[in-house]
Amino acid sequence: MALIEVQVPDIGDFDEVGVIEVLVKAGDSVKAEQSLITVESDKASMEIPSSHAGVVKELRVKLGDKVAKGSVILSLESAEAAAPAPAPVAAAPAAAPVAVAAPAAQYSGSSDAEYDVVVLGGGPGGYSAAFRAADLGLKVALVERYSTLGGVCLNVGCIPTKALLHVAAVMDEASHLADLGVAFGAPVVDLDKLRAHKAKVVGKLTGGLAAMAKMRKVTVVRGYGTLLDPQHLQVELTEGEAQAKTGATQTLAFKRIILAAGSQAVRLPFLPQDDRIVDSTGALGLASKPEKMLIVGGGIIGLEMGTVYSTLGARLDVVEMLPTLMTGADRDLVKVWQKMNAPRFDRIMLNTKTVSAEAKPDGIWVKFEGEGAPTEPQRYDLVLQAVGRTPNGKKIGADKAGVAVTDRGFVPVDIQMRTNVPSVFAIGDLVGQPMLAHKAVHEAHVAAEVIAGELLGDAKLAKSAFNARVIPSVAYTDPEVAWVGVTEDDAKARGLKIEKGLFPWTASGRAIANTRDEGFTKLIFDASPEGGHRVIGGGIVGTHAGDMIGEIALAIEMGADAVDIGKTIHPHPTLGESIGMAAEVAHGSCTDVPPVKKR
Ligand SMILES: Cc1cc2nc3c(=O)[nH]c(=O)nc-3n(C[C@H](O)[C@H](O)[C@H](O)COP(=O)(O)OP(=O)(O)OC[C@H]3O[C@@H](n4cnc5c(N)ncnc54)[C@H](O)[C@@H]3O)c2cc1C
Repeated sequence: MALIEVQVPDIGDFDEVGVIEVLVKAGDSVKAEQSLITVESDKASMEIPSSHAGVVKELRVKLGDKVAKGSVILSLESAEAAAPAPAPVAAAPAAAPVAVAAPAAQYSGSSDAEYDVVVLGGGPGGYSAAFRAADLGLKVALVERYSTLGGVCLNVGCIPTKALLHVAAVMDEASHLADLGVAFGAPVVDLDKLRAHKAKVVGKLTGGLAAMAKMRKVTVVRGYGTLLDPQHLQVELTEGEAQAKTGATQTLAFKRIILAAGSQAVRLPFLPQDDRIVDSTGALGLASKPEKMLIVGGGIIGLEMGTVYSTLGARLDVVEMLPTLMTGADRDLVKVWQKMNAPRFDRIMLNTKTVSAEAKPDGIWVKFEGEGAPTEPQRYDLVLQAVGRTPNGKKIGADKAGVAVTDRGFVPVDIQMRTNVPSVFAIGDLVGQPMLAHKAVHEAHVAAEVIAGELLGDAKLAKSAFNARVIPSVAYTDPEVAWVGVTEDDAKARGLKIEKGLFPWTASGRAIANTRDEGFTKLIFDASPEGGHRVIGGGIVGTHAGDMIGEIALAIEMGADAVDIGKTIHPHPTLGESIGMAAEVAHGSCTDVPPVKKR
């Protein structure tokens, strides 16, 4: 038996990346090529495989660690002789292609219809791919198991959460007006009406998508699709509100397929089945107004839902395994949110795990372990599980088409959104982090353009690629927290030389007029000799931060520096002006903050 140190291979264009998942533990038997950890940069998440088969002796990394090429992941007792680290893992906007694909099947039956492109999944990725492909002149079918298009985002994600967060923000603002001399009575919440409002918002958008599919002559097939081989998809037709199968099937033949089957909420296996334990979809159902609510997982989705329930009257506890809430954002941004939101929480339990839960008539009793754990089990009226989402790659017959899928269910793709099979493309949550709707839409356009280029012989379209420098993230909490590109934490971990321009909203006329001057805007510039002082990152905390972060993303894509941004005339008085002023601060020309002391 040899003791082998398994290292991180060449991970492409990244110096250091964070460990977001450890997939094995000491004592586990692992196969060669089995995924050991998942790492994530601002652009890609990738699973790092084992170079050898053997038994894990000692783990050398933990969640939150930063690793680079050569970092030791674990030691392994192996019957094999030590060999060089595994082949480089390509950095793509997706999980890296480490999964081994089965040989494809060959379907020999008949088909009901033939298309240039079939798109599997009608979420923001899927409908955008289908519409773009149709606009480029291809014959397209879009397969969706539910009755409405729009996927998670429109039906049970981005849009319904924002409809409720808007109501919560207005309620909070109205209550603050009392300090300014305008007092309202206590709000009376009618949950039926609130649910109806949310449903109306969702219906307007999903109805719009159905109409746009018709206008583009995209055939929408309602059913559950599974691949039969690299050119055929079987659809088990569905009906009703959920995914009840009618018993009928259709077989669609295609020249190309775009897999856009998305993801679903992770369910903690030890939590009992009980109506008072919900995922984000259940929480959006607003079945009750809990007095005491636990959020398991301190990420964006959990904290957004917590904001809604807290404004409706719930006291919150949050439990998070990592040392911080809203992992990924710089701490200074999160600190502002945390200070403002402290009154909503009874307990913020960091470095703490939920270990068990018992459903009793008076509530769900939950036990915790770790740094912030109370000694006794705690009682909750509602428990929200918001511990992440898992891709649907293992549920679509990918093996029949010979498409590689990772252990976790991601479908690896290159920057043109191609899988390992030439006729099969994949996009959206299915292909990797960050699981965000705007990433899915951009990937969708790339896949549709590459396919149209190939099928119509358009060389320019065929070169389309997902080469965005940055993908912004937003927590639509109150205040909002938005960030894009390199963060200060990233820069520190990677040893990047940076300069910072920070404009405090206490100096913003508009923020003061709005009585919301707790926030700030910060820009991060490349201060390396070859960096040209270009902006490479930015963060905003404050009201409407999410509406403004796009400007910083644009500046990064355009390679703007502090002068470009500072000399762009922003309208006064606006919150957006704070971006120009942060650039002026970096440049030393801002006259809205105290002068920099000369030595
Ligand atoms: C509560 C919540 C809030 C969110 N808020 C935001 C936000 O503010 N901003 C943001 O950018 N992102 C947000 N997200 C994430 C966002 O919703 C996803 O990143 C986005 O929906 C991914 O799009 P997609 O097209 O890849 O997949 P999905 O939206 O998951 O769509 C996949 C579709 O495929 C269908 N499907 C799957 N398998 C099959 C099959 N075999 N046959 C037929 N159909 C199938 C599914 O029914 C679904 O409609 C949020 C998510 C949640 C849960």
